[in-house]
Amino acid sequence: MKLQSIAQGFIELILPIECGGCGEAGSRLCRKCRQVWEAPPQRVSTRIQQHIPVYSLGAYGGARAKTILSMKERGRLDLTQHVGAVLRAAIVNMQFHGHVPEAIALVPAPTTRRNERLRGGDPVHLACEASGIPSAQILRTSAAARDSADLSAAERKMNISGSIELLGMIDGPIVLVDDVITTGATLAASVAVLQSAGMNVVAALGFSHA
Ligand SMILES: [Zn+2]
Repeated sequence: MKLQSIAQGFIELILPIECGGCGEAGSRLCRKCRQVWEAPPQRVSTRIQQHIPVYSLGAYGGARAKTILSMKERGRLDLTQHVGAVLRAAIVNMQFHGHVPEAIALVPAPTTRRNERLRGGDPVHLACEASGIPSAQILRTSAAARDSADLSAAERKMNISGSIELLGMIDGPIVLVDDVITTGATLAASVAVLQSAGMNVVAALGFSHA
């Protein structure tokens, strides 16, 4: 991680800083794109029914989508600091409205270890850490899981639920966090794994929903 931030520093000496949401030069996330990320969390429904309420910070598209892709695909892990702050504000908002209890822990949705290594870190995990809210990466998708892009919703659910590994336990209420909520297959499978181990999942929160 240290070496990586040193490398990042060198890259910034060479390349101008550009906005992770629109590409405009001059800042990591410009004022206009920051505004996109300021929307309060909203309740959303997924194709696969969930046993917990699901919230999203906004529809997947525009500056929000580009910011997420910048983190996931383009190595812009510096953006996880900003998204972490947004995540914290969203949780405080949900606590204020009584949607989640005061003392919660965040659990990032599972990612494969191999993917994470390739990308230099899981952005969802890093954003959870940057939020300052207690968090633990206790779910992982085993490397054997098939790429789910070309599977139907039902196939996805089958594919995912058999491949999530539990790496630890958390006492107290949990909010599951993911970057893009689509069919809800990953969420449903993750909740099932946590609940079957006796853990208390109270809500899920996505950076976006599609
Ligand atoms: Zn921008």
